[in-house]
Amino acid sequence: MAKGLEKHQAKQAQLSALGKDLTRRSGSKCELCEASGVSLRPYPVPPEEDEPRVDTCLFACDLCREQLENPKRIDASHWRCAAQSVWSEVPAVQVVAARVLDRLGKTELWAREALDDVFFEEEVEEWIAKQVL
Ligand SMILES: [Zn+2]
Repeated sequence: MAKGLEKHQAKQAQLSALGKDLTRRSGSKCELCEASGVSLRPYPVPPEEDEPRVDTCLFACDLCREQLENPKRIDASHWRCAAQSVWSEVPAVQVVAARVLDRLGKTELWAREALDDVFFEEEVEEWIAKQVL
């Protein structure tokens, strides 16, 4: 088997092993838009680590994950939720919500204002800056 494929499969297995912890943390709701009763999967917050951990992943619905993976498709009306989730107690959720607000903030005043209101711990701030969405 190709090395790349093996690595990919190992990572998928590691991610699904996080499902139980993420289900508990999220209360079975999308940690970004709070959708419930939908299929949720772990989303490793970029830059991805070799071994995904609960702390660096969040549990997200298909809609949120698809748009995060294709930032061009980010739909401002869907991401109104980020103005709430940026206040999450979970740093990984704060990081992703802040990156989304930062991107939307170029055109959307509410997103810029939402981001201005939040105070981030220094570590979170550094993590946010590691990647631009
Ligand atoms: Zn969602």
